[in-house]
Amino acid sequence: MTKEKIMNGIILVCLLSLGFLLGMPSTALAFKVPIHEQITREVFADFQVVAGGQTLKFTDYAINQIVNANKHTDDLPNQANSEMHFDGEDFAGGSKRVMDLKEKVISKVTTEEPESTSARNDLGTALHTIQDFYAHSNWVELGHSSPNINRKIGTEIFSGADKNTPTCPTDPGTLGGAGLSQLTSGYFILSNQLACGVPQGKCRHGVPVVCPDGLNKDDDSRPGFLTARPLAVDATKDYLNQIFSDSRITGNINVIKLLMRINN
Ligand SMILES: [Zn+2]
Repeated sequence: MTKEKIMNGIILVCLLSLGFLLGMPSTALAFKVPIHEQITREVFADFQVVAGGQTLKFTDYAINQIVNANKHTDDLPNQANSEMHFDGEDFAGGSKRVMDLKEKVISKVTTEEPESTSARNDLGTALHTIQDFYAHSNWVELGHSSPNINRKIGTEIFSGADKNTPTCPTDPGTLGGAGLSQLTSGYFILSNQLACGVPQGKCRHGVPVVCPDGLNKDDDSRPGFLTARPLAVDATKDYLNQIFSDSRITGNINVIKLLMRINN
């Protein structure tokens, strides 16, 4: 370790401690946790499936479990995992994550020995990642608003701008160049300690106080939040529809009840 690296490390630890005191870790990294929770509860309150002549909805117990799993995706040990939050242009990692989790949710409730709690945990954390796509990428700045979600989420692996293509060429807090036409997302301070975590020519996520400008639309103080939030709602519904329209689930009332934790 060079002296400079040690100093950077000390500064990072100080900032993280300050962040804890201010309750910032969740604030800094995603739609603020209450916003993830609001979005998730809003969607589940209306979501229903008809099977065997019955209209079925997730129970409160199931919804609470899913909301908790969503929330824990922002726990400190998970914050450097770019694929969990679509940070740092990790579109390949994020898109693979939500596809893999969809398959896990479906297989865990359709197997011989179902694990429905684990399936709901997978669903909750997948929804977090999907919601973060709209809070952390430039999907909104590319001109998309509700209901124009990214239809590839949950169905294919995709990538964004090349690692060598500048997306914030003049200022890491301001989109420009390829950032106005190609998919990009902000780099977060934990993933790289230099210059608030921004590789040359790339955009930053933005962290309150430390380096506030950036792409994130995590709360209503941020530009683009009012467009990103409805997209996250639409995308949450879409992912549920993808799961419930899978041939292993559709019309299978026992499996649907298991996932929704309906006990009769
Ligand atoms: Zn997040």
